[in-house]
Amino acid sequence: MPLYLDLSQLNGQSMASQSDQYEEGPSTSKRSKLEREDGHGDTKETNRKLGWEVDERIFTYVSDLVPFSTAKFGILQLGPYCNATESCSFTEANCHVKTVINENDLALILEFNQLFSKGVQLLSDLKGNVREMEEHELAAIRILDDFFKEKDQHEQSLNKILRGHQSDVERKVNSDTDTTIALAEHLLGKLSPGKSYIIDSRVKRKGKCRCGFNHCESDPVFGSTGIGHEEVWHGFIDIIFSSHAGIPETAASVVDSEDNVGLEILTCSFDEREDERAGDSPGGGTIAEEKNSLSGAESQAIAQTIVFSFIQNKKHPNLSNFLIPNIFISTREFRIIMYDAEKDILICSVPLPIFQPYPSNSLQIASIIILWMVLHYRMFCVGIDTKSVSEIRKIQSNFKERAKDKLDIYVNASKFGVEGFPLVPRERLPSLELLGFGIHLIPQK
Ligand SMILES: [Zn+2]
Repeated sequence: MPLYLDLSQLNGQSMASQSDQYEEGPSTSKRSKLEREDGHGDTKETNRKLGWEVDERIFTYVSDLVPFSTAKFGILQLGPYCNATESCSFTEANCHVKTVINENDLALILEFNQLFSKGVQLLSDLKGNVREMEEHELAAIRILDDFFKEKDQHEQSLNKILRGHQSDVERKVNSDTDTTIALAEHLLGKLSPGKSYIIDSRVKRKGKCRCGFNHCESDPVFGSTGIGHEEVWHGFIDIIFSSHAGIPETAASVVDSEDNVGLEILTCSFDEREDERAGDSPGGGTIAEEKNSLSGAESQAIAQTIVFSFIQNKKHPNLSNFLIPNIFISTREFRIIMYDAEKDILICSVPLPIFQPYPSNSLQIASIIILWMVLHYRMFCVGIDTKSVSEIRKIQSNFKERAKDKLDIYVNASKFGVEGFPLVPRERLPSLELLGFGIHLIPQK
C-alpha cells in the first residue's frame, strides 16, 4: 500500500511550493506505524512498513562509531578589523577571523553528529525500525530517498555543468549563473524541505538549467533575495530555501565557479591559477585587494551568515535553538557556516567535497546526507550545548562588540526578501557646496 505524505505538515507549517507527486494523494494516516522487531533492524521490514522501498544508501553511515566524522566544525572569532558598523553590501563586507584554540594550541572542535544528532538518530531509528515516525520525519526521509533514487541523473547534470571543464571531451566553462541554477536544480533544491527554493533574480540569465538532459525538468524560481539593512551589512543571497509564505529558512552562497571555499584542494586541480590562489591572504591588504582574494568570498559568506541568522532569530522567536546555517558552496566543495545570534557563536566546517575525487563521476554520499540534514536544520539541528563550556566568553565571536551601536539595526531592522536597498550617503572629501556654506574655525582678521 503506498503511503501518501502531506508535505504541508513539514515543520508543522504549510508549504508555499509543492511540486511533487506526494500531494496528489490523501493523507491516509497521521503516522506510519513502525513496530519494534525484537531489536533487529531489517531494511526489508522497514520498507514494508513504510509502504515504499527505501534506498539503502541513506543508511551508509548509520553504524559508524562517529558518523560523518569528516565534517568537523571550528569556532570562529572576529578580529578587530571588521566593517560591520558601516553601510556595506556583502561584496564589500570585510572581517578577519581566527579559529579558537586552547592553551595548548589545539583547535576547539564540534562534530557534525553532535550538532545534528537528531538527524543521525532519525536514520538510525528508521534502519533499526524502533519507533513510529512522525509525518514530518517521513516527508524529510522521502526527500532524501528520492534524491538517491534519482542520483545518477543529478550526477550526470552536475558533472556536465560543474565539472564539464575537467573532462577531456568538453572544455566549455559554464557561467556562474549556470552553476547556481544547476546547484539549485540538481543538488540543494532537491534536498530542501518541499524541494522549494528561490534564486536571486539579479542573475545574468534567468532561464532553465543548461544541462540539456531529458531528465531535467528544470523550472527555476527567481525572486528577491535581498537581506539586511542599508546602514550596515546588506545585500543579496544567491539561493534561498524558503519553507512557506516566503520566510527564508536556509541560505546558500555560491562562490565564483573558479574559486574554492577553502585553501585545501580536495579534488583534482585543473587550473594553474589554483597556485596563485592557494596563498594565504595577509591581514594587511586593502579592501580592494581583499576582494580579489579568497578571503573576500569568505568575508562575504560570514557577513551573509550573520545577517541571515539575525533575521531567522526575529522571524522565529520560538525556535529551540538559534544556530542557523549558510551553505558556502563552489563547483567542487562546500562549507557549512553557522551563527547563533543569541549566544553569539560562529562556527565553520572544513571544506566538504561535492564529488568523489576526479575522474569518478559520483557524488559523495556523506555530503548528500549532510546537505539534506543542514537544509532540514529546523528538524535536525540541536544547537550548541554550552552547559559544559566553562567560559562561554572564550568561544563567542565578538560580533556584538564589532557591531557596536549598530547592533540594534541587525537585531531589529534587518529586512528580508527585498528587491533593492536605498543608497546611504558616504563620507567623502569635502565638496564645494559643503565648504562654501561653512563657518570659520579661526575668525578672519
Ligand atoms: Zn538540469
